[in-house]
Amino acid sequence: MNKKDAVKIIEKMKLQYPDATCSLDFKTPFEIVVAVMLSAQCTDERVNKTTPRLFSRCPTIEDYLSIPIEELEEIIHPCGFYKNKAKNIKLCSKQVHERFNDVVPSNMEDLMSLAGVGRKSANVILLEAFGIAQGIAVDTHVKRISTLMGLSKEKEPEKIEKDLINLFPKKYFKDINHTFIWHGRNTCISRHPKCDNCCVKDFCKFYKKIGR
Ligand code: SF4
Repeated sequence: MNKKDAVKIIEKMKLQYPDATCSLDFKTPFEIVVAVMLSAQCTDERVNKTTPRLFSRCPTIEDYLSIPIEELEEIIHPCGFYKNKAKNIKLCSKQVHERFNDVVPSNMEDLMSLAGVGRKSANVILLEAFGIAQGIAVDTHVKRISTLMGLSKEKEPEKIEKDLINLFPKKYFKDINHTFIWHGRNTCISRHPKCDNCCVKDFCKFYKKIGR
């Protein structure tokens, strides 16, 4: 894949998904931190059904500090892995309270120092809470599309992110974050890609391989 074609791909994606945006509901930086944690191994739809009760029970960081862990577990139970997620939410709120004076940090290093926040989550938080498109959050959709299209031969998300960062101009990072996920949900669906209807099929390694 060359850089010129990479730009054509993202321009086509933008035309195809002009409304692509983050599908997690949140109002504050800490709410997106929590929503991203809950979205691990869970659909955004389910997270959005769970967070209204949680956000109304815990409107401030102090509320996350004081809520009994059993109650937190019960509220987030529908999102799966609730014990681990509750533990991380409690610890993360303590860290934001003690180390950052209740303010979610707006840089990659500090975000990644928080419990339950890896590079992918930090990329999402930076973009959605602060409008900073520093990198590309490689989730299951971005990983699959990157492999199928021949944008990266790597398997590990951080290496795939590096390949994408080298391929696409920085001004498109925000669009990649949003449109690739929508493309993965709507067209390049896992195991059932709708290749004949795909807006970027002419650039896709997989499409060429199946000889359409
Ligand atoms: S052509 Fe098929 S495999 Fe390639 S990006 Fe489109 S939907 Fe995915």
